[in-house]
Amino acid sequence: MHNNRMTVRSSPDEISAGEAVPIADALGRPLHDLRISLLDQCNFRCPYCMPESEFHSEYEFLKRRQRLTYDEIVKVATAACSMGVSKIRLTGGEPLLDKNICALIERIADLPGVEDLALTTNGMLLEPMAGKLKAAGLHRVTVSLDSLDKQIFREMSGGRGDLDKVLAGIQAAEKAGLGPTKINVVVQKGVNDHTVLDLLEYFRGRGTIVRLIEFMDVGNRNGWLMNRVVPSRVLLESIQKRWPMRPIGKNYAGEVARRYEYIDGAGEIGFISSVTEPFCGDCSRARLSADGMLYTCLFANQGTDLRESLRNGADDDELSSILSSIWLQRADRYSELRRTDVAEHHVLRKVEMYRIGG
Ligand code: SAM
Ligand code: SF4
Ligand code: SF4
Repeated sequence: MHNNRMTVRSSPDEISAGEAVPIADALGRPLHDLRISLLDQCNFRCPYCMPESEFHSEYEFLKRRQRLTYDEIVKVATAACSMGVSKIRLTGGEPLLDKNICALIERIADLPGVEDLALTTNGMLLEPMAGKLKAAGLHRVTVSLDSLDKQIFREMSGGRGDLDKVLAGIQAAEKAGLGPTKINVVVQKGVNDHTVLDLLEYFRGRGTIVRLIEFMDVGNRNGWLMNRVVPSRVLLESIQKRWPMRPIGKNYAGEVARRYEYIDGAGEIGFISSVTEPFCGDCSRARLSADGMLYTCLFANQGTDLRESLRNGADDDELSSILSSIWLQRADRYSELRRTDVAEHHVLRKVEMYRIGG
């Protein structure tokens, strides 16, 4: 189990090999979560993430040698665990396009300190893999599913998704013991907002946790506009009219979803409201892209190239030292700083969601 000592590191020089000491950034936030993007490719073209117009057949995705190897990923994960990371999420692009993923899962699941190992997927390839993922040591899956309306679902996957396959994938995950499954729904005004209640109805009472996500201005290519965002409080009001709900507390500090439960006992849902109600104050996440860039904010416009250090022979101590100096300097709070009314005019170039996996 993870050794959660109360000592907090304040300088990168205080590190010694094998020691697991929590670390706090410049705003006092610990490092708890690491999201690892395995590859930048995807079998979907969700318009809010990888629109077909930009990610067409000529688009150059990372070559194999540009992506981190499993050995390199495990080294970064090990260093992150030594400074307090206990939650690791594998993502992408679409992580299940990596056919060897179980070999990586086995290695990460075995790292000291890892208490929660999850995967975010669009679910298309999940059904045949669910049992193997569980056997390899994965704890949970989150499946992205924007609507149960076949036509809307298809459009929101860029014309590539098959709703029945995704639903079968969710069922297989639950059967394999990868629950409680979470369902991520990106809600866009005029696109799928009118289908949210149907989706909730389908998953109510099944132990599946639906999370309604505000359409975010991640990256530079998804045509984000504030008037496409449905504020969580508006959604909550309309859900309450059908099924009364009450708020419930966080599972852990740094949880991004605001949780509600149905008063009739049919389970819980969550709201991820990073546009209208930012939650930077206890954000404890670092993100590793498939080519080894470490980002300390979803909206970062620059990261740190760990691949270069790894390929120049950085040993575990050096890697820990690099990671800790990045975290100690971290002061990101993009969502809190940007005023939503002007967000659509901002000109910062940001990292794309498909590169760091949400
Ligand atoms: N391909 C996998 C999937 O879709 O689950 C994993 C990667 S995807 C980038 C991770 C999550 O980011 C998904 O749940 C997706 O819906 C969410 N996402 C992508 N673009 C988004 C946006 N502009 N606003 C809000 N969420 C977004
Ligand atoms: Fe692919 Fe996931 Fe992005 Fe959709 S949200 S395009 S499934 S990476
Ligand atoms: Fe964390 Fe950055 Fe999102 Fe704020 S904007 S919650 S710092 S990822």
